[in-house]
Amino acid sequence: MKDTDLYTALLGLGNGWRVTDVKLDVANKRVDVRVEAVRDREWACPVCQQPAAFYDLAAEQTWRHLDTCDCRTYVHARLPRTRCSQHNVRQIAAPWAGPRSQFTLLMESRAIDTLKECDVTGCGRLLGISWDQGWHVIEKAVARGLARKRWRIPAYLGIDEKAFAKRHQYETLVCDLQRGTVEYVMEDRSQDSLESYYRQFAEKDRKAVKAVAMDMWDPYIAATRRLVPEAQDKIVYDRYHATRLATEAVDKVRKQEHKVLMEQGDERLKWTRYLWLANQENIPEWRRSEFAALRQMSLRTGRAWAIKEALRRFWDFTYAQNARKFFQRWYFWATHSKLRPIIQAAKTLKVHLANLLTYFKHRITNATVEGLNSKIQMIKEMACGFRNRNHYRLAIYFHCGGLNLYPCAVKS
Ligand SMILES: [Zn+2]
Repeated sequence: MKDTDLYTALLGLGNGWRVTDVKLDVANKRVDVRVEAVRDREWACPVCQQPAAFYDLAAEQTWRHLDTCDCRTYVHARLPRTRCSQHNVRQIAAPWAGPRSQFTLLMESRAIDTLKECDVTGCGRLLGISWDQGWHVIEKAVARGLARKRWRIPAYLGIDEKAFAKRHQYETLVCDLQRGTVEYVMEDRSQDSLESYYRQFAEKDRKAVKAVAMDMWDPYIAATRRLVPEAQDKIVYDRYHATRLATEAVDKVRKQEHKVLMEQGDERLKWTRYLWLANQENIPEWRRSEFAALRQMSLRTGRAWAIKEALRRFWDFTYAQNARKFFQRWYFWATHSKLRPIIQAAKTLKVHLANLLTYFKHRITNATVEGLNSKIQMIKEMACGFRNRNHYRLAIYFHCGGLNLYPCAVKS
């Protein structure tokens, strides 16, 4: 087989194109492939597809292709231009590459596969592409995926806030809890933004939503009540957010008590913050006896922690009725604890009780989709390399959007 025929086959070129030259530069580990359009054929305007006259050849372009046995491989071509009576002079698209791409379709798909496995810097090292090129591939892949996406509102939604880059900036993710995908990324956590998500769908589609898991965050509640019919039976406050309220109350009690103790020279609560923040089963083995001893000491913090731990049992019930009875007993205990932060947390939970109890009907939380949260965690860990929020948003769609990212004609 001739080298030109080999590369004609490898590039998947149809009848209208042929490889005219292949140059191998062993010293520089490089292959240069020259492609030409076959002139003797019918031309069509790329806009209207009507027959058009050949006009000229555009300036030479170069595309990076998949390596050939470890040799960087480049495709070079001058793309023909046609002249149409309606659209004037237009350039024919290269069948081996997407518009304005520096890569062939196969190379772009390889970059997408690699970017799914590692971050942009790692992909750059493996493929020998720059950081900007890596982000450009992601940006184009996400734009393609979003354009192809069939917009429908999921039956089970999760509205989840995520802090961005450890600063007090938030993103809101709208997740499809059944597919385990992020449907929509909002740049804040406002009512307007969530309403703009809902408004993309007709009322009859919004009516088909079965349940929405969310934090007890007023703007999310207001947007959902306004635009999702029968929202009062569909909103489920996320159990992890609810227990976080109680955990934060424990932390406040600890802080106050620690201050009082330290004034008396008592250091018992020093270095214990993370013990009180943890759930029982997450206390590290080597601190268990220390923590057990602390709990024996009738500290206010110990009481607060026990009340918080008890609350977690609420979600173990099978029937809402039993959970309601449990909550009433817990509420009595919490509100008679004389621990102000705990009393406040209990009151907040009581106000929202109806939509805590909806959990027993729908059984959803934002942690329902384990894979999704671990992916987002990975993205956040890579986020130190993000120059801006747009990259963070793109990475979420790229890794979690469930989108068809590939350039067409390669994979779909
Ligand atoms: Zn035309």
